[in-house]
Amino acid sequence: MHRFLIVISVCSTFLFSCSNEANKDQDVAEVGETKQVKAPKPKVISEYEMTLSDYVFERDTVRKGDFFGSIMDRSGVMPGKVYQIIEGIPDSLFNFRRINVGRPYTLLKSKDSLETAVGFIYEHNAIDYTKVFFGDSIYAIKGKKPVTVKQKVATGVITSSLSNAIDEAGISYGITSRFADIYQWSVDFFRLQKGDQFKIIYNEKFINDSIYAGVESIDAATLKHKGREFYAFNFLVDSTVGRYDYFDEEAVTLRSFFLKAPLQYSRISSRYSPRRFHPVQKRWKAHKGTDYAADTGTPIWSTADGTVIKSSYTRGNGNYVKVKHTNKYTTQYLHMSKRAVKVGDYVKQGEIIGYVGSTGLATGPHVCYRFWVNGRQVDPYKQDLPDAEPMEEEMKPSYFEFIQPLKEALDSTEYIDLQEQV
Ligand SMILES: [Zn+2]
Repeated sequence: MHRFLIVISVCSTFLFSCSNEANKDQDVAEVGETKQVKAPKPKVISEYEMTLSDYVFERDTVRKGDFFGSIMDRSGVMPGKVYQIIEGIPDSLFNFRRINVGRPYTLLKSKDSLETAVGFIYEHNAIDYTKVFFGDSIYAIKGKKPVTVKQKVATGVITSSLSNAIDEAGISYGITSRFADIYQWSVDFFRLQKGDQFKIIYNEKFINDSIYAGVESIDAATLKHKGREFYAFNFLVDSTVGRYDYFDEEAVTLRSFFLKAPLQYSRISSRYSPRRFHPVQKRWKAHKGTDYAADTGTPIWSTADGTVIKSSYTRGNGNYVKVKHTNKYTTQYLHMSKRAVKVGDYVKQGEIIGYVGSTGLATGPHVCYRFWVNGRQVDPYKQDLPDAEPMEEEMKPSYFEFIQPLKEALDSTEYIDLQEQV
């Protein structure tokens, strides 16, 4: 169940007080992946798993117009030998035609006075490389640079927006959307308030311990919103398919059956109301939906899994889609510029079903979201909507054991306050 042993020495990457890159990584606990073995430093080019004393290493970059033959030619390898190398190594190990401009490569030369070229290492990307040897015998080996995962703990406070707060806390950009994803069912991010605080335990990947290679995952987080604390822990719920999901400190899923909103909107322009003045028809009538204003073309998501039962056009609705989720629940999305599904399609929660527009009776680009319970139109904001599938009872003991050190790490980190930012 446990992904790795957690050894946490907490680094609080405080907002404002720790914004320079240099001391950011100082007290960070490193959680190495168990499979990689780090070789001793001085004698070895660890990234290629080679001993420095064996060859002269010459690093270079593929230039415009270069191909394997021209690089070999510059290194004094005869055309006949180049032919033997290309013929001797299968495409599956190394495709000599796929050498791209700008990629780094390293020539291996003999340590004697002749400095004969005997090998070539090509980096396909930041992690994968192939070593081609053509000294006494011709062969190739594929390799991967060692990737380490560093676990970090950070705290922040909302001053204007979540992404600003995450940026100011010195946390990688990729975290914002993952953080928002975790809480998308429980917290309306458009209602986050100034002063709301968060703590995040997250993992970053590094190649050779030094080159940043992106955010791996968020292990745990807590968000303090309107005085309430929302915990989230990432837990492996299905080891056969490797599916993780987030649960709170009581093993309750953070996901609900319905998303809070069917799109990333700029504002709610009109709420569900039994009586409102219709802006196009200029008369009082019920508005049995919620209008979300957004730019034309913004993707509209199905708020839950279900089957498309209508994908069509009417004069009032414009382009619209209706999705049946269960016998009890149906949702509908109006005024689309374009529909992306057809009747009978099965859609997943969050899947794009169309794009924001202003077709039908609409004054500007928005989506009118409608919600039915047992065939009756209701305001989804006033419903007690069901949760996604709960955690299985027999999984809970190992879950509580798993989250204990993470929760302790979160709890022992102090929230930062707005006042502390100076
Ligand atoms: Zn509407």
